[in-house]
Amino acid sequence: MLTIDDLGDLHGKRVLVRCDLNVPLEGTVITDEGRIRASLPTIERLRAAGARVVVIAHLGRPKGAPDPAFSLAPVATRLGELLGAPVAFATDTVGPHAQATVAGLAPGGVAVLENVRFNPAETSKDDAERAQLADTLAGMADAFVSDGFGAVHRKHASVYDVAARLPHAAGGLVLAEVAVLRRLTVDPARPFAVVLGGAKVSDKLGVIANLLGKADRILVGGGMVFTFLAATGHQVGRSLLEADRVETVRGYLAEADRRGVDIVLPTDVVVTDSVRPGATHHVVATDAIPAEAIGVDIGPASAAAFAEQIRSARTVFWNGPMGVFEIPEFAEGTRAVAQALTEVDGLTVVGGGDSAAAVRRLGFSEGAFGHISTGGGASLEYLEGATLPGLSVLED
Ligand code: ADP
Ligand code: MG
Repeated sequence: MLTIDDLGDLHGKRVLVRCDLNVPLEGTVITDEGRIRASLPTIERLRAAGARVVVIAHLGRPKGAPDPAFSLAPVATRLGELLGAPVAFATDTVGPHAQATVAGLAPGGVAVLENVRFNPAETSKDDAERAQLADTLAGMADAFVSDGFGAVHRKHASVYDVAARLPHAAGGLVLAEVAVLRRLTVDPARPFAVVLGGAKVSDKLGVIANLLGKADRILVGGGMVFTFLAATGHQVGRSLLEADRVETVRGYLAEADRRGVDIVLPTDVVVTDSVRPGATHHVVATDAIPAEAIGVDIGPASAAAFAEQIRSARTVFWNGPMGVFEIPEFAEGTRAVAQALTEVDGLTVVGGGDSAAAVRRLGFSEGAFGHISTGGGASLEYLEGATLPGLSVLED
């Protein structure tokens, strides 16, 4: 992949940089700014080179039209504070205000364009529609830097099509993410443990299938575990269950058995009758989940067992919280897994927006982990062995 050095002298050049600034917001309050911070080094580097830096990014999933709830304005403000420099904000992405804002940038100046997903062409499946947006974007810049790792698995105009239209390079964040993921896929130190959780098993089936050939043990928690428990014949009450995936999961369990991969499931879970703060909850064995119960976390015995399996590994990849960590009572399984990762003698990688947010929210220091990936879907697809359009387009 080409790097920023390959772009030559950038002084005075307009550099369009795709960042991943898709942070969680409550109103206009940013509840986790990890992705903004992760974007700083490349922006600072381009500024230092005297480039006119034009940041393009998305936020959330607006429906292809401007929606104030998904404005990048608060993100632009925070970016300016973190950079300690003025950041101009364009209230459209490629419209008159964006054009004027870019034209007004001095060397070393930074502008953020409004949420690119306010334009339906960004995510369009129609190549011609995306091409039109990409042409306009390309017309606003002299070079393109791809640094939004969390979006590189998307064939979107600002990720894929624009790269093909300008001299382009991978930014430092994309390079760092790819380097770490490569270490997980090429000859990882063993034992290699994978910890999977989060809400939906269907999001993660591809990676499970691929990791069956790579990992030595796969620990499963979170909402997806109930589909696994159902596949092993357990009742799961009113817990999250993807009934149409039970057969697939049963197949994976058989495949794991054949390959000698340990799939470790919890033996106890925390259940409640209502997923809200302050709700009554208790611990039950996974083979005795009451019909009315909702499983919201792995139980303490399982947390201890998972921690032991993690600590004794030499490579660990973790994606997906073990429970509904947003509610403190249901965060203990996630905390135990995070703590165990910090004690591993080897490479630890946390992938997934919610997992990374959980680690920070629970008060762990980022430095305690080998790498915290900014890209959940992107890192999973990389581990699945998929070709990521936003990376392949940077190869040539
Ligand atoms: P990531 O962003 O790290 O990839 P996901 O998006 O897959 O993680 O899943 C995160 C979500 O999963 C969190 O919002 C969390 O509340 C939810 N979750 C975890 N365990 C459960 C559970 N037992 N029931 C319902 N939701 C759960
Ligand atoms: Mg998520």
